[in-house]
Amino acid sequence: MASHRSISSDNLSRSKGQSKSTHKFSIVADNKPGENCFPGFLPVISYQLIIKLCREARIKVGRLGEFYFPAGRYVYTGSAKRNISARIKRHLSKVKKLRWHIDYLLANPFSEIVEVKKASVPECELNQRTPGVIVINGFGSSDCKNNCKSHLKYLGIYRE
Ligand SMILES: [Zn+2]
Repeated sequence: MASHRSISSDNLSRSKGQSKSTHKFSIVADNKPGENCFPGFLPVISYQLIIKLCREARIKVGRLGEFYFPAGRYVYTGSAKRNISARIKRHLSKVKKLRWHIDYLLANPFSEIVEVKKASVPECELNQRTPGVIVINGFGSSDCKNNCKSHLKYLGIYRE
């Protein structure tokens, strides 16, 4: 775990042979999984969507099949090799051609993205470190090589 927070101000200071006092802030202070990173420092390579489904639903998820989604909050972990902002913008749009599993959940009239988090940790690692329950096996993990089983996790009932 420490490896992902390794660029501390201390390390930088030492590597440049400068005194500690020249770095007054921690560069990766919020670079923990699920939390926003400082843009432009460590590259953002993955993201998480916190999704609220305000009522239970049966949703057809493309070729994966039709599934029961309990009402509540979900976290979806994804990545984009480039232009992650465009990918997130696409997720936030209700009008689009349904392509990925997540598109089917987000197209449901009762679902809504309530928060977007960006991270500089690989998506599978971020996903595996995120607590939650897998309710749909294989959701968003068709091309996952790290045995995640699902890139969508259920976080429980939504509380305002
Ligand atoms: Zn994975």
